[in-house]
Amino acid sequence: MRIAIVGAGIVGLAAAHALLDRGHQVILIDPGDQTARPTDGNAGWIAHTDIMPLASPKVWRNLPNWLMDPLGPLTIRPAYLPSLMPWLIRFVLASAPTRIKTSMAAIRAMNAEALPAWKTLLSSLDLSAHLREKGILSVWKHQDAFERTKDILDRQRNLGIGVDILSRSDLAKLEPALHNVEAGVLYPEACHISDPAHLASDLLRLALERGAQHRAARAVAVEPKDGGVHVHTDSAANAVIADRVIIAAGIWSRPLARTLGDRIPLDTERGYNATYPKGSFGLNRPIMFEGEGFVTTPLDAGDRVGGAVEFAGLEAKPNHERTSAMIARLKRFLPDFDAGQEARRWMGFRPSIPDSLPVIGPSRQDNRVVYAFGHGHHGLTQAAITSQLVANLIDEMTSGIDLKPYSAQRF
Ligand SMILES: Cc1cc2nc3c(=O)[nH]c(=O)nc-3n(C[C@H](O)[C@H](O)[C@H](O)COP(=O)(O)OP(=O)(O)OC[C@H]3O[C@@H](n4cnc5c(N)ncnc54)[C@H](O)[C@@H]3O)c2cc1C
Repeated sequence: MRIAIVGAGIVGLAAAHALLDRGHQVILIDPGDQTARPTDGNAGWIAHTDIMPLASPKVWRNLPNWLMDPLGPLTIRPAYLPSLMPWLIRFVLASAPTRIKTSMAAIRAMNAEALPAWKTLLSSLDLSAHLREKGILSVWKHQDAFERTKDILDRQRNLGIGVDILSRSDLAKLEPALHNVEAGVLYPEACHISDPAHLASDLLRLALERGAQHRAARAVAVEPKDGGVHVHTDSAANAVIADRVIIAAGIWSRPLARTLGDRIPLDTERGYNATYPKGSFGLNRPIMFEGEGFVTTPLDAGDRVGGAVEFAGLEAKPNHERTSAMIARLKRFLPDFDAGQEARRWMGFRPSIPDSLPVIGPSRQDNRVVYAFGHGHHGLTQAAITSQLVANLIDEMTSGIDLKPYSAQRF
């Protein structure tokens, strides 16, 4: 079949390869000018060991403190509050214990397959060198905060996830540069990517080498008709008529889904980061600073500190005071880190759904249009498994994962 993919971010690119594998003709439509796309600036974690949605007891516990601090880990810009309200209401509803259980099961269903799917994809393209298998470390400033998360660790263990609780001396041996932490947990199976932007450019290059086409255009509407699905673009010459269309345009998918009769509660959790010269942090592996709202990753592009959740929509300018605040907090854990060095600062748009589950499935109007967006904090982690699910939908094959929890019609 002739398949148009709207959006060549990490999700669209992985889908392109899955469809090429199955002998389809692929046309990627993407203007290629979106510097805030999270595909390029994310933290690079294949965090398949994560099981909790954002609407979790951990977030609610920290929320009052976080909201008091305008530069803290989670902020809502007051001017954006009215626009965010419908999303927030759904977020509160998604925090009910039964709903958390449903989200956890659906996150786990995808995450359990996420790493094998990435390994298969990367090795088929001879890109396995992008995968770094050094585990991921979570650290806590205070022992009592760590004690409060033990139930989550038990749940992870019960799901067969490797969870190594470290003593303070283990921690010091593993990461000598790290100070002021009282507790730590190593997830030995978690991985990271050499550099997310580099991975995406390799995936695009190889898709084109494998015969995919690229139209440098912005899709403005998707219209299923008898003879095929029309993708209207901002330049008429780039319009496409395809047998099937996949919408994988991250946060920008919302207006496209609207043209197909689907009102999706998709909003953006804006994230920030700073990338310092390689080796600046002196850390050997990715680290989650629990309760602080940021993580670090040793990438090929440099040492990245990033995170934060800011609800402010797509139009507001970045507030890099948030990045500065994150760097100042990191410095407390890394006394030898020269925070005054030059660093590249970035802000990007996580495409987030209140229940922390992506939208994967056919549109309401026509099952020739398939959605694959809204992966929130897990878009890199889940891109390869998403591509398999999408290819199965296109080929009308059943998947091992029940797709009901990700349906666009669940809202
Ligand atoms: C600070 C930060 C750290 C993160 N860290 C991690 C992490 O460690 N691990 C993890 O798993 N996830 C992480 N994420 C989340 C992850 O980056 C995203 O979920 C993921 O990149 C989403 O990918 P995507 O392809 O759906 O969307 P995007 O990356 O947004 O790509 C969408 C593409 O669609 C294109 N597009 C937009 N509109 C149109 C249109 N109208 N027509 C055609 N094309 C269009 C854009 O140009 C873009 O190329 C992080 C996010 C942030 C912000």
